Amino acid sequence: MNEWNVQKPQKTCFICTKEFIAGDTLYSGIADAGSNFIRKDYCTICWGKSSKDDLFSYWKSVIPQKEEKRKENIDAVIDFFKELISNPEWDENRAKIKYILSLILLRRKRLKLIKTFTKADFDVMVFEKSWDGDTVDVRDPKINEQELDTLKIQLEQLFDCEFKPETQN
Ligand SMILES: [Zn+2]
Repeated sequence: MNEWNVQKPQKTCFICTKEFIAGDTLYSGIADAGSNFIRKDYCTICWGKSSKDDLFSYWKSVIPQKEEKRKENIDAVIDFFKELISNPEWDENRAKIKYILSLILLRRKRLKLIKTFTKADFDVMVFEKSWDGDTVDVRDPKINEQELDTLKIQLEQLFDCEFKPETQN
């Protein structure tokens, strides 16, 4: 494959549209857009001037020197998950995102599975959170393989990383 054609689109500031280059510090936020979420990147100047009211969660990072598949920022995932579970689950898409993130956090040992039960035809997993010791219930929304892949790609775009596939069984 021609290497000139595989370059990813350049990241730009959501406000001033400045293109980020290697070594730049940026802030990335995930904004609540109803049942879905939008990622917004900001340069440090625009970040200082902008309201964060619409952001679900955010984190700071530096553009790497070379393009590489990026490891997830697990703290950013946890912050987002905390916000997600602090609101009542009113939307099916959010329920699915919550479920997928809980599996990622389980794999990274930030959640521990305590028990499962069945409620109204759904399997519910009870997790203990490593960060505060409390438990959280996560309903299995019964996602098919294809939808699972689609949602995983969406989440990887939001967090700008690659969630590694399951390594343990
Ligand atoms: Zn800017």
